[in-house]
Amino acid sequence: MTAATHNEKVIIIGAGVAGMATAIRLAVQGCEVHVYEKNDRPGGKLTAFEKDGFHFDAGPSLFTQPANIEALFELAEEPIADHFHYQPVAIACKYFYENGKVVNAFTDAANFAEEMAAQLNEPAEAVTGYLQRSKELYEKIGTIFLDHSLHKRSTWFNKKIIKTLGAVKYGYLFNTLHQHNTSKFASEEAVQLFNRYATYNGSNPYKAPGMLSLIPHLEYGQGVFYPAGGMISITNALYSLAIKKGVQFHFNSVVQNIIYTEGKVKGVVVDNENQEADIVVSNMDVYFTYKNLLNDQAKAKDILKQERSSSALVFYWGIKKQFKELELHNIFFSKNYKEEFDHLFEKKQLYSDPTIYINITAKMEPAHAPAGKENWFVMINAPANTGQDVGLPQQQARQQVIEKLNRMLQTDIEAVIETEEILDPAIIEQKTASFQGSLYGTSSNSKLAAFLRHPNFSGIKNLYCCGGSVHPGGGIPLCLKSAAIVSDLIKKQKRGH
Ligand code: FAD
Repeated sequence: MTAATHNEKVIIIGAGVAGMATAIRLAVQGCEVHVYEKNDRPGGKLTAFEKDGFHFDAGPSLFTQPANIEALFELAEEPIADHFHYQPVAIACKYFYENGKVVNAFTDAANFAEEMAAQLNEPAEAVTGYLQRSKELYEKIGTIFLDHSLHKRSTWFNKKIIKTLGAVKYGYLFNTLHQHNTSKFASEEAVQLFNRYATYNGSNPYKAPGMLSLIPHLEYGQGVFYPAGGMISITNALYSLAIKKGVQFHFNSVVQNIIYTEGKVKGVVVDNENQEADIVVSNMDVYFTYKNLLNDQAKAKDILKQERSSSALVFYWGIKKQFKELELHNIFFSKNYKEEFDHLFEKKQLYSDPTIYINITAKMEPAHAPAGKENWFVMINAPANTGQDVGLPQQQARQQVIEKLNRMLQTDIEAVIETEEILDPAIIEQKTASFQGSLYGTSSNSKLAAFLRHPNFSGIKNLYCCGGSVHPGGGIPLCLKSAAIVSDLIKKQKRGH
């Protein structure tokens, strides 16, 4: 048997969002699907916790492209309203600069352009023109890169795709995102705001290609959303849908090996027992898949040729006060963005004046914090963890964050922190087996990054890969797209393509 026919047995390693989405898609295709997860819960990085009356979404906080989730419910013929609700958010992010300027980034493109003109003196046409090109780039090129396997001949023999790629402007590939943005905007603040989109997949705007300028279209063209109950509702919705479709989850089950003979997968080893399967899909970090489960050190080393994405240092603070001047998503920019990214990616160190991101879901759901209080998710970018000296001890980094917020919000943050938890790159690696604690697998810090990312299939027949460390990349939308690509590859193989 080579591919999915009715009741083919599929084993998925990992219950991250991509693993669960793949499980749903393959169950709908008629496979018997088993998901083995090392933790005692689904969701991987997409998790949450409660502390002292505060709710904290522990990992992702920005939700875009709900269509990827709707597609799963449509495919499964289940009413999404029974499982998942979300609403649009009017302000994608509130940006604070050290020079006192403040920008409300409205998701409505025209309002956003007016705000940029009013606050930064950036011509509104510069902003609307940029967003229009972002839309075109996303719709023409982005969809090719994100919805197809880049590693199958069928993609490159498709005439429409060849024609579209031929029309890609030189600058999007050969200029960095920063160069692209400086050529489009007059104000340094606008350049910094649009440079930030490189961090959406953990990359460096001074190295990543101008092609990443398609990302803003997701926010200002398609919208920013908030899932009722917080981000954890995404995990809960996928899990309940998977259960409904007959997917069997095995928690506290570490997959130790992938078994294959004569170049074809046979199953996995869990708790020292062989579990047979016709198809295996790895949702775990592809580096560890090769290193630990396939014992292929050469291939694992090969994967490291591509730079890892950045990681994060997160402070979860229960704040005994409400800050009316803050929104759901807030950014406090560093003064010198270039120096910040040099620290993160060249020196591999924490930066002393970091850009700070604060997410407060109590702004949308007051019940996420006790009355009169707020749940702050405070994140700074951190280098991927190779065990190096990151320059700043964690307590000192925390102090820098507090001093910056005191300065920019004219307040005394330490005095209002009621409760605290901390997440760092080492804990991220330990909790979800993400190599070096990278949030998004590999970075896009090179022109060919999209092509260098590991494909959704492997050299071993019937062994596939999904999730943030493989094509098309990290972040919830792309992880969900990887599930669609994998299930399509399996379906095509069944048809003998
Ligand atoms: P993961 O979530 O990495 O899950 C993999 C699963 O595999 C884990 O559950 C792990 O336990 C399991 N596993 C590993 N090895 C084994 C084994 N041997 N046996 C069994 N199970 C195993 N994305 C966004 O879209 N928006 C954001 O705002 C955003 N912010 C982020 C902030 C933080 C702090 C973090 C950590 C991530 C953020 N991301 C964000 C990235 C996003 O969370 C990830 O890209 C996405 O959740 C990854 O999903 P995944 O399916 O690839 O797998």
